[in-house]
Amino acid sequence: MAIIADWLSTLPGNPLPQFQAVDRRWYYWRAHKSGRSHPQPPQVVFQNSSTLGTTDWDIVICGGTLGILLGTALAQKGWRVAILERGELQGRAQEWNTSRHELQVLVELELLTEAELEGAIASEFNPNRIAFHGGSEFWVKDVLNVGVAPAYLLECLKQRFLQQGGKLYEHTAFETVTVHPDGVCIQAGQTLTAKLMVDAMGHFSPIVAQARADQQPDAVCLVVGTCAKGIPAGATGDLMVSLAPIEQGHQSFWEAFPARDGRTTYLFTYADFAPEQPSLEQLFEEYLEALPNYQGIEIAELDAQRAMFGLFPSYRQSPLVLPWARMLAVGDSSGCQSPLSFGGFGAMLRHLRRLSEGIEDALKSDALSINDLALLQPYQPNLSVTWLFQRAMSVRANQALAPNQINDLLSVVFQSMETLGEPVLRPFLQDVVQFSPLYRTLLQVSLQSPGMIPTILQQVGPSALLDWMGHFAALGTYSGLHQMQPLIQGWSEKLPGRSRFQWRQRLDAWAYGSGADYKSS
Ligand SMILES: Cc1cc2nc3c(=O)[nH]c(=O)nc-3n(C[C@H](O)[C@H](O)[C@H](O)COP(=O)(O)OP(=O)(O)OC[C@H]3O[C@@H](n4cnc5c(N)ncnc54)[C@H](O)[C@@H]3O)c2cc1C
Repeated sequence: MAIIADWLSTLPGNPLPQFQAVDRRWYYWRAHKSGRSHPQPPQVVFQNSSTLGTTDWDIVICGGTLGILLGTALAQKGWRVAILERGELQGRAQEWNTSRHELQVLVELELLTEAELEGAIASEFNPNRIAFHGGSEFWVKDVLNVGVAPAYLLECLKQRFLQQGGKLYEHTAFETVTVHPDGVCIQAGQTLTAKLMVDAMGHFSPIVAQARADQQPDAVCLVVGTCAKGIPAGATGDLMVSLAPIEQGHQSFWEAFPARDGRTTYLFTYADFAPEQPSLEQLFEEYLEALPNYQGIEIAELDAQRAMFGLFPSYRQSPLVLPWARMLAVGDSSGCQSPLSFGGFGAMLRHLRRLSEGIEDALKSDALSINDLALLQPYQPNLSVTWLFQRAMSVRANQALAPNQINDLLSVVFQSMETLGEPVLRPFLQDVVQFSPLYRTLLQVSLQSPGMIPTILQQVGPSALLDWMGHFAALGTYSGLHQMQPLIQGWSEKLPGRSRFQWRQRLDAWAYGSGADYKSS
């Protein structure tokens, strides 16, 4: 164990203290599952029945990382927007991977010029590989093959936000908020009032902690890795590769791609909350042990520019609807990203137009009640169905699976998707699940490997399967309802303000919840 601590402490910026803090949090969660006490999160949201009268801002966004995307889109539309960021608003050095066409929304919403967008693209590579131990390889082009430099992107957005009259409060931490009938009053070392507060403070937002009370996340994705020189950068990437069967109670997957500062490699695994699950430190040991074989280098040649690690908790009840009027969660705090990937930036790109237009509509029609705002983070069956996939890719504590069971399953599923063609495979890889491709894949898997079905059923268990069938049926229903959009839209657009807002959000929910918003290029 001391080896990992020593190694991390020699890396640029000494990530050891932060790493230990994250691993302690993970330890705490696992221990809690085993019955230890769990203190109530502090109360940060209060309610008051007196009115505020006027407000300083239309919208206050707490948390600047993804908050600046939404903040700039809203300031661009002419709203009075303030962003509170507890640190400095600066993106991290490590790229976010996405697909080129997903970035286009930033230009379409006039948040970036084409030249700024090109400047934000730090790397581009093709094709990407998917491979599972003991199975075949699959290659895809133009999917998650663009690395965006967060530091550059956020700086451009910050400048645009300020030009549009937005106000950025850096080194200003959100402390509490009081919800009044006509606005919110935020304490952050100073007092700010607004019609709407947006929580963009990430997975560990104090507002989310209060809203989810002591609800335990249902699963977690654990990630460790580095961006390092010394590994041949290569021109291709790995989206998801497994090098071995289940070992030490978990199935590890790898990701690798060229980056501006070398080559990024991640090891990740899905876990439940049990003391038996590996610590991040154990995963880093496994990472350093397997990396030489994976990338064809000696560990002494690894010149790590930075270490990366993360815990991505996911809750079945997502996206999160905040139980207070005038408050909305976005970004990681909302849980609207897939539990399969750590693609929160990509999820924000996907929902940016919908959210910025929806918030504008909500403000214009004073539709800021709990129920109104719930329509902006609606149930998405195509997100909920992915739960079973995550369950099928993880080994729960004390679960005895055949060593290569997860790899064999994934090989068969990807073979089926490849047989069915790109329209099936591509959206899935970009976290968009659609009814017909999913149905056809399941049919293909049952025909191709009927023997696999009982094994899967046994692995995921009857209650998860039943739950999933409900979401699968809802996915079909949403796909059907979305077909009726042209009929309903003509009528709903003639409705008065608040009803029109509600119908617009329902139509969006059917589109996004069925994956019909997906554009392939
Ligand atoms: C190793 C790793 C690799 C990743 N790779 C990708 C990728 O390739 N593609 C992709 O799409 N996504 C990727 N992600 C996920 C992506 O980084 C997150 O989804 C994204 O950062 C979420 O942004 P957020 O603003 O919602 O939350 P956060 O990133 O957690 O940011 C929260 C913000 O709120 C601020 N804040 C917190 N508390 C307060 C407070 N009290 N007051 C004021 N401000 C506060 C924080 O300072 C921070 O700026 C990766 C993540 C990790 C860890």
